[in-house]
Amino acid sequence: MTADPPSSGTLSAATPSQELPPTFDPREGRVLILGGGYAGVATARCLLRRGYPASKIHLVDKEPATTFRTELYKVGEAAGGPEVVPPWTFPFDRVALTSAGVRFHQGEVLRVDLAAREVETPSEKAPYDLLVLSLGCIPAYYGIPGCQENSEEVYTVAGARHLAQRLSKLLTAPPDPSDARAVIPPVSVLIAGGGATGVELGAHIATAPWGSLLGASTRPVKVTVLSGPAPFLAGLPERLVERARREVARAGVEVVDGGQVISVSPGKVTFKDLPPREPDLFVWCGGLRAPDLIASLPVALGPARRARVTPFLEVEGHPGVFALGDCAAMLDPYDGSPVPSTAQAALEQAPVAARNILARIRGTKFQIFHYEPRGVAIAVGRGKAVAAVGKRVVGGRLAGTIKSLVAKEYHAEVRGVLA
Ligand SMILES: Cc1cc2nc3c(=O)[nH]c(=O)nc-3n(C[C@H](O)[C@H](O)[C@H](O)COP(=O)(O)OP(=O)(O)OC[C@H]3O[C@@H](n4cnc5c(N)ncnc54)[C@H](O)[C@@H]3O)c2cc1C
Repeated sequence: MTADPPSSGTLSAATPSQELPPTFDPREGRVLILGGGYAGVATARCLLRRGYPASKIHLVDKEPATTFRTELYKVGEAAGGPEVVPPWTFPFDRVALTSAGVRFHQGEVLRVDLAAREVETPSEKAPYDLLVLSLGCIPAYYGIPGCQENSEEVYTVAGARHLAQRLSKLLTAPPDPSDARAVIPPVSVLIAGGGATGVELGAHIATAPWGSLLGASTRPVKVTVLSGPAPFLAGLPERLVERARREVARAGVEVVDGGQVISVSPGKVTFKDLPPREPDLFVWCGGLRAPDLIASLPVALGPARRARVTPFLEVEGHPGVFALGDCAAMLDPYDGSPVPSTAQAALEQAPVAARNILARIRGTKFQIFHYEPRGVAIAVGRGKAVAAVGKRVVGGRLAGTIKSLVAKEYHAEVRGVLA
């Protein structure tokens, strides 16, 4: 077995080991993919495209539908009540993969036995020959007292729905007759975390047409985004950050630099560096970590307890076990920079993972993964976005339209409208 030579750039001194792990017996070639988000669905799709038989591909997810997680900040789409079905998910039994014959198993993966090559869910023990870990990430609360219990989040479908319902209730609550103030006070929403998720959520809540979404007269809303210990939109190009800051301020969002949360109790948030606040709603957008299942495996872990992978996206020291997307930790073999935890990176990893799975099965060439950023776009409310493509920063409705077209294209692929 040989590795493809790099297609561009040179390997840095910090390159992870290029040596292929020991030989591996693929037996029947049954591929079990754990997690049907961007990484898992795209890997299955790429295996099919490469002619791998659908009957040998199995996909497991705890949810009945795949989640378009990049859109969970649009909580207005779930406003109104539990019966509202937001367009953030699509049932696995209707995705193009299952129509093509990929077998979907619904169930939470409770245990993975790497030695026995077996995965356990509440209803079955599923054997595998090759495994794909694409379980995504979950919110990280860093042990901050009361934070998990007293906050909302938009990292999961359940979290986004819960936030939408609480917000709907607050916005439509009749005024308190004992409140003597002439002006109805706004619903105060405090968002901790000034990364892309916190910023997109803040701008959406500040600008969503709540009156028409809820079909009622609604209270005004006041949104504050705290950058937390990291700078506002840390890691993104400076010009994009400046422009996004201006746009979200225009959307009515107050951006506060700092605000390191040290404890949360019902209705009150305290900080290391700011006076306490008492918002109506507190949303935690402060960080993510890999699910406990990853840490339960005998594998090397990287930052945020993600599984460390080789440049071939194989879990270090475990031939035939692949990890990609948010639950994998990897330094780009060409420039040593961490591959980001984004849908974009997951979708770029999937074809390489599929090719390397087939390399394990067929003894063909392996491919090294190299992340090529295609740009970043931050939604800033009212259908607008601020985007950086290469060195260019653009904003407004055009950027917003491009962002939503990228999402629509992905929806179409999942549904099978696009090949
Ligand atoms: C609000 C928001 C906005 C974002 N915007 C962008 C953006 O604009 N661009 C971008 O590139 N990225 C964006 N991201 C990041 C992006 O959503 C993630 O990087 C992406 O979802 C990672 O894909 P994944 O397949 O690794 O994980 P996921 O999409 O999270 O999929 C993981 C899957 O695993 C399943 N699962 C987890 N545990 C188990 C278990 N034990 N058993 C069975 N199934 C399990 C889950 O149900 C889920 O279906 C955003 C994220 C958020 C929250």
